[in-house]
Amino acid sequence: MSETKEGRIVKVAGPVVVAEGMTGARMYDVVRVGKLNIIGEIVELHGDLASIQVYEETTGLGPGEPVVDTEAPLSVELGPGLIESIYDGIQRPLPLLAEAEGEFMSRGSAMPGLNREKKWHFKPTVEGGAEVGPGDIIGEVQESSLVNHRIMVPAGVKGKIEKIGEGDYTVDETVAIVTAEDGRKSEIKLMQKCPVRNARQVKGRLVPNKILVTGQRVIDTFFPVTKGGTACIPGPFGSGKTVVQHQLAKWVDAEIVVYVGCGERGNEMTDVITEFPELKDPYSGEPLMKRSVLIANTSNMPVAAREASVYTGITIAEYFRDMGFTVALMADSTSRWAEAMREISTRLEEMPAEEGYPAYLAARIAAFYERAGRVQCIGSPQREGALSIIGAVSPPGGDLSDSVVQATLHVVKVFWSLQGKLAYQRHFPAIDWLTSYSFYKESLKACFEDKDQGREMEELTVKAMGLLEQEAELLEIVRLVGAEALSPQDRLALETARSIREDFLHQNAFHEVDTHTSMPKQYEMLKNILHFHKQALMAIEVEVETAQIFKLAVCEEIARAKYIPQADIAKIAKIRQTIDEQMKQLRSSVVA
Ligand code: ADP
Repeated sequence: MSETKEGRIVKVAGPVVVAEGMTGARMYDVVRVGKLNIIGEIVELHGDLASIQVYEETTGLGPGEPVVDTEAPLSVELGPGLIESIYDGIQRPLPLLAEAEGEFMSRGSAMPGLNREKKWHFKPTVEGGAEVGPGDIIGEVQESSLVNHRIMVPAGVKGKIEKIGEGDYTVDETVAIVTAEDGRKSEIKLMQKCPVRNARQVKGRLVPNKILVTGQRVIDTFFPVTKGGTACIPGPFGSGKTVVQHQLAKWVDAEIVVYVGCGERGNEMTDVITEFPELKDPYSGEPLMKRSVLIANTSNMPVAAREASVYTGITIAEYFRDMGFTVALMADSTSRWAEAMREISTRLEEMPAEEGYPAYLAARIAAFYERAGRVQCIGSPQREGALSIIGAVSPPGGDLSDSVVQATLHVVKVFWSLQGKLAYQRHFPAIDWLTSYSFYKESLKACFEDKDQGREMEELTVKAMGLLEQEAELLEIVRLVGAEALSPQDRLALETARSIREDFLHQNAFHEVDTHTSMPKQYEMLKNILHFHKQALMAIEVEVETAQIFKLAVCEEIARAKYIPQADIAKIAKIRQTIDEQMKQLRSSVVA
């Protein structure tokens, strides 16, 4: 048995404590600091001197107090009970902590991440005698009405199942015993522990080419993200970021949602903690929490906990991915996480790089987003899982040249450029169509069952985007020389671009029908607008006045298509007939 390594505090600097006498300790070992047993993690080692980032307030800690190495890395508990939980950055259940300790938690509180008393009904999916290895699913627990939690063999366990039985178990009771070839026995429980700093293993990586449908037209049609993809969304104040985040959490076609919130002001996170649990899952009508895990950091929590929170969140998300689920992780805001890194780095007296951030900022951000992906999971039965990461950034003053934004843009494949200017004009979602981008555009085509429709949709988006770009140029001309300089075709381009913006891109999150649009409906709506454009061009050729074209009654129908329920989608397609009829009438009136 190894001796417990116990050192002594020599210095306390904000969230960082330096201890001597730590010979034999390893980087990233979790330690217990001081008489209060505060949790910390070793982040730097020089000989027997260890620098420790501490997850709680360090006031009152002083030199000479003991530091004990637990010899384990920072880990999370994974098992039934995660769903519907609200945790702090190091997986302490927030509502429970608040109950037990009052609003201000006392330090050194050791609350397990998973409830130890609750019993879960475990149903085996393999029988005694089966050969199993890491990642194999051996049974299931119906964790919530929406999540069937699969129990997997933990890493490092391999052999024959000696005993397994259906029944009610707490997370730390043994549900199965596995005997290895050499006779060694391992007990499998509903819960396993997993270090958070490194990605969980996968069998292989697959191309993330399946669209993650969000039901938000500007996103799905123009800037899609994929199952396993990464996206970044800046959030200038008042630009509708919270509404976009909530819309995504509600509507993405992912089975599990993990939301990591790093608030700046205390009340920002309070909003999340109170608002998020009230969201309804539109697919089932149940609370969204029935398939979500929430990690919340308020500003009065120590910076180190904020630094750890994204790792806690992503490890939980990976765990569900490994069961074969599609998972969406939303981190809001990663700028707060980067600031926590900066603060700790300063205390460690590291050489600062740009804007005072540590030199490893970009590497850490990249490593975080690289944990997203569509993967072949380890173990049998064979399954595929996907983890998408949507990270919000909030640069000071909305400045996109900020280090965190730049480092993020280097790794993510989608950028939704949220603009305060658009929000001010009440154009929601305020995602700017000219500066946003997605490298997953190919995924759009593939999500249509009808291949021709998929190809056509791709063409429609290219045409629509072309018109939006043309609009920007034309408006510049209008500004310089006035609208009279425009040809009828140009005027039509402006009108169609307006229609794309107002009738298609603009989407009201609070309207019962408009809040979500299926892919087939997005196709029909965009097709109508461009069909009108094509027919109008033909009318202009025979000298119909543009003013008359824009006055056609069908324009109103095109605009109102967004409010037609999915069940009546045929009505949207029918609008094209009306366009044809009304245009024909116009043309014939001119010819006559
Ligand atoms: P932020 O979080 O960026 O400060 P919010 O998300 O709270 O901003 O949005 C501010 C307001 O903008 C909301 O209260 C709402 O009235 C409006 N809004 C934002 N997005 C939408 C949307 N998609 N549809 C309708 N209204 C919206």
